[in-house]
Amino acid sequence: MVTAVAINSHGGITVSESVVIDGHEDNLPRVVTHAHSDHTKYLSRSSRNSPMIIGTPITLEWLKILGFKLSDSVLQPINYGEVLRLPSGTLRLEKALHIPGTAQVVFDSDEGWRAVYTSDFKKPGSHTPVISSDVLIIDAVYGNPEFRRDFDDYIEIVLVDLVKELLASGSVYIHGYHGKNQEVMMLLRSEGIDAPFILDHKQYALTRAMEHHGLRVRDYHHVGTEEADEIMRDGWFVYFTHFFRRVECDGFGTHVKLSGWEFKKPMRQLGRRWWLVAFSDHSDFQGLVDYVRLSRPKEVIVNCKRSTDGYLFAKYVEKKLGVKTYLLP
Ligand SMILES: [Zn+2]
Repeated sequence: MVTAVAINSHGGITVSESVVIDGHEDNLPRVVTHAHSDHTKYLSRSSRNSPMIIGTPITLEWLKILGFKLSDSVLQPINYGEVLRLPSGTLRLEKALHIPGTAQVVFDSDEGWRAVYTSDFKKPGSHTPVISSDVLIIDAVYGNPEFRRDFDDYIEIVLVDLVKELLASGSVYIHGYHGKNQEVMMLLRSEGIDAPFILDHKQYALTRAMEHHGLRVRDYHHVGTEEADEIMRDGWFVYFTHFFRRVECDGFGTHVKLSGWEFKKPMRQLGRRWWLVAFSDHSDFQGLVDYVRLSRPKEVIVNCKRSTDGYLFAKYVEKKLGVKTYLLP
């Protein structure tokens, strides 16, 4: 089976010479599992040289907002669970908890074996369905056994409580990556935070597209509009911007950075008006192991192009779970 899977120099996964996932190969249909930049390499080339670009409706719309020039004639949106016929098997997408629109890829070959690529995910088994597989392809994002966050189960509560507390004394500025911000918007709403959201241009466009596809945020405003100005004068709002973007705020605002690379404590104070919360949109080491264990594959392929310490993860899976594991490319 493993011979039916190849991974190219930029992390694109070819299955059964029928499809390439999260990378480019001339003349093959391409799946984009989600809109993060490490999964969209050479996408413009795919737009010209691939017969089809497959993704969830949210992902395909987000790619355009993020600046990719994609011709509508090649875009093939499919919903979770919908089945697509390919030359040597069928393909379907399944949900993964990561950023809106993220999909796992399930390829059922005509020979009877199944390959699953997890893409990025967190909370396997509860929020990300674990798919049974013969060959499981996984990115060991946190492949080192030391990359464990013991607080992952309750980090949402930590973040919500901090935002509630900070809102009592003024505005809150949240700095996160594209997609993670939108997950946090939905989290804050579901936990009863009803302060208006102020979004910079890209955050606003991504959120609006997501709402078109049924993921509700409510009461969000484009920075610079009259209504946003009025809300900001009142001083009670949550402002969302990119992790690396500098935003000037009034003297009463507090900044909260969301980082996936904190393992010791769920949050810490960086300065008088700066906090950091260890909010990741990836499973830690244990979550990766749990997915493999529950999926019960015959073979595991670790995609080294998107892994940290992939060889340590492979060694662990072979030793503790007894599953033959390959490192590619
Ligand atoms: Zn991602």
